[in-house]
Amino acid sequence: MNSVLDIDPASAQAAKDKKAAFEINKLSKRLHRQVGQAIGDFNMIEAGDKVMVCVSGGKDSFSLLDILINMRERSPTKFDLVAVNLDQKQPGFPADILPAYLKTRGIPFHIEEQDTYTTVKRVIPEGKTMCSLCSRLRRAILYRVAGELGATKIALGHHRDDIVVTLLLNMFFGGRIKGMPAKLMSDNGKHIVIRPLAYVAETDLERWAQHREFPIIPCSLCGSQENLQRVQIKKMIREWERLYPGRVENMFNSMSNIVTSHMMDRNLFRFTTLQATGVADPDGDRAFDEDEEETCATPGPLSVVRMPHEA
Ligand code: SF4
Repeated sequence: MNSVLDIDPASAQAAKDKKAAFEINKLSKRLHRQVGQAIGDFNMIEAGDKVMVCVSGGKDSFSLLDILINMRERSPTKFDLVAVNLDQKQPGFPADILPAYLKTRGIPFHIEEQDTYTTVKRVIPEGKTMCSLCSRLRRAILYRVAGELGATKIALGHHRDDIVVTLLLNMFFGGRIKGMPAKLMSDNGKHIVIRPLAYVAETDLERWAQHREFPIIPCSLCGSQENLQRVQIKKMIREWERLYPGRVENMFNSMSNIVTSHMMDRNLFRFTTLQATGVADPDGDRAFDEDEEETCATPGPLSVVRMPHEA
């Protein structure tokens, strides 16, 4: 009988490669399915749209562009893509990397050169975080560029974990339940902003970026630290996910499953005029909160709540 020791290194390597190819194929299918699902659920892209994909050079925006290019090739809905990068003139920004990459993808692109770095450095005192002003300036520039390019949609690379982190940040520090929408109207009222990666886990994007060997540009060139609270919460949800797999997905799913009668927002539910109707509601509140008791009694991993589209 053969033992494992008899397996020759070439066969072992071939088996390993086969498994890796299988895993990547699975990842690719999942990413494209989730992006397609988000686009469909929120009607993000319609026939005739010109989608401006904002590419910063990070793993998320590279993946977003990559997936949208693939989807456009297969989609019966005809739409155009244009990639846009804002070169903020940060010291050491490798200005040649993105144009070289975008040329290989064969899609139109535009590099907008605006020295926001100097402006932000001048206005913000040394040691203070520059991100808020920097992103405001960046947003205004990107909206202007979208208008100039005739883009009907602006696609951003935020993913599921960004959305959950934003929700928690707003709860912890803003005292409100507010996430990051998958689709919204820009604050100047002129554009529709979409987040096609809304259903995608960050770890999947990390793996995809590695597999596709995107020429990632480091995001620390400006010398500013990312919002520390955001970093902390990101670490926290990663740890939760490690201990209780499925927790981040559950939190994310809860954002599309809001029971307003069980919250406290009097603008969303008419608590003040609530009257007994005398008609039983089988789906209504059981008043003694069995669900809460069940949850409290279960210290182990919680099951993942599936979205209807994943059934
Ligand atoms: S990290 Fe730097 S480039 Fe990014 S938003 Fe903050 S200041 Fe701007």
